[in-house]
Amino acid sequence: MSAPIFPNYINGAWVEGPTFENRNPADTNDIVGLHGKGTPECIDNAAHAAQQAFAGWAGLTAPARGAFLFKVADILDRKFEAISAEMTREEGKTLPEAKGEVRRAINIFRYFAGEGSRLAGVLAPSERDRVHMFAIRKPVGVVGLITPWNFPSAIPAWKLAPALICGNTVVMKPASAAPLSAWRIIEACHEAGIPKGVVNFVSGSGSALGSALVHAKPLKAISFTGSCQIGQWLHAEASKRHLRIQLEMGGKNPTIVLADADFASAVENVVNASFFSTGQKCTATSRAIVEDAIYDRFVEAVVERTKKLKVGDGMQPGIDIGPCVDKSQLNTVLHYIEVGRKEAGEPACGGRHLTEGPHANGYFVEPTVFANVTPDMVIAREEIFGPVLAILRARDFNHALEIANSSEFGLSASIQTTNLSRMYEFIYGIEAGLVTVNLPSAGVEYQLPFGGSKDSSFGPKEQGPAAMEFYSDYKTIYVKY
Ligand code: NAP
Repeated sequence: MSAPIFPNYINGAWVEGPTFENRNPADTNDIVGLHGKGTPECIDNAAHAAQQAFAGWAGLTAPARGAFLFKVADILDRKFEAISAEMTREEGKTLPEAKGEVRRAINIFRYFAGEGSRLAGVLAPSERDRVHMFAIRKPVGVVGLITPWNFPSAIPAWKLAPALICGNTVVMKPASAAPLSAWRIIEACHEAGIPKGVVNFVSGSGSALGSALVHAKPLKAISFTGSCQIGQWLHAEASKRHLRIQLEMGGKNPTIVLADADFASAVENVVNASFFSTGQKCTATSRAIVEDAIYDRFVEAVVERTKKLKVGDGMQPGIDIGPCVDKSQLNTVLHYIEVGRKEAGEPACGGRHLTEGPHANGYFVEPTVFANVTPDMVIAREEIFGPVLAILRARDFNHALEIANSSEFGLSASIQTTNLSRMYEFIYGIEAGLVTVNLPSAGVEYQLPFGGSKDSSFGPKEQGPAAMEFYSDYKTIYVKY
């Protein structure tokens, strides 16, 4: 049977043309689909279509735009099982993880649909007699959205839904490693009857399309999630044109484990945050910083728990960890495991590329724990974005905090403790945009602002009420009566 084709979507029409393959990372013989291989011309057409559609979409009332978003959510909900399974096939995460993500994307659409009825501005009393003054929100214009493969449904949703509710029109460029989950959202927008040109979708290689997008004349803003390298380049290009820009990038997220922590729950939280979704969450823990008094016991317990994790095809029940998303990501992980071997010695567990039996056709690697890692080592400093955990030793809480903050990144951070004062010292002292206490460092919700600090992020935060700050502008009005 030939693979299904998922064409690009420009000005309300599906655009036939050359395609590229989207393969299952758990079984590379399985072609999930063929996706439109967009060109710079497609990007330009999409941006102009979005410009044409802007006045009409921005002219609708916000609750009317919300009604479309509710429909998108309902359509995705009806296809929930199929879309979740497709995500596992294209990205590799386990089916329960994929279901959790698709559910989140649906909830995000409903949340921002509701915001259509709450799109509040600012009302303040004037110092002048008989003057009424207020500020209303208005959309920014045509917005470019560039998304990564690791949350192929939730990240497109958390950019697209607030962009649309605020009245913007959109050109989306999904990640080439997992474009289908985003495509399903666009299909739902089409089925929901969102007017032509409001939502446009151009898949294809970022290196071939990036320049066309950031330089497309109609563009007013760009929201990007991905690597620091691409984010920094985009920032430089966007700044030349004074584009509004938002970047969410890499991390090297720490979890501090203090001697007073609930031990079993700390072990579970670190293993969960380090290895689930194959360590390919931007908020994954990649450094556990453990107080000296419990260090050896903690390493032993993490290793024992990690050895029980089952690696395999995420469609199979009982699998905890799927494959790396593609060959390049697998090679990066294997490279860092070799670096770790040279720096810290043999891993305490894992470290092998799995190539036999059920793993023969996928990009599987064992979850890997390195003990006795010191802060100066490469595996303690650089983002790996795979199932590799470095465990560092700290003399006490202050030393642990110092190590945690020694990174150039500042996305998420976690502490495991039962000491209230340490918890607050951590909350106020840690240099990170997302903080968890006695939870895994990964696992955020859409109702609150999301984003990092330091080199992890740039610009206004995403999600929750914060999303409105990026996707809308204020118009301030003074009335004498
Ligand atoms: P990436 O290589 O930077 O790709 C991200 C997106 O940018 C993809 O759509 C990619 O397209 C596109 N792209 C590539 N080159 C481009 C260019 N020259 N101009 C414009 N767009 C371009 O990142 P990734 O490897 O997919 O994702 C992993 C990274 O994302 C990690 O560093 C991770 O920490 C970060 N991330 C951060 C967050 C967060 O919220 N902070 C969330 C998720 C992931 P192609 O796929 O076609 O190359």
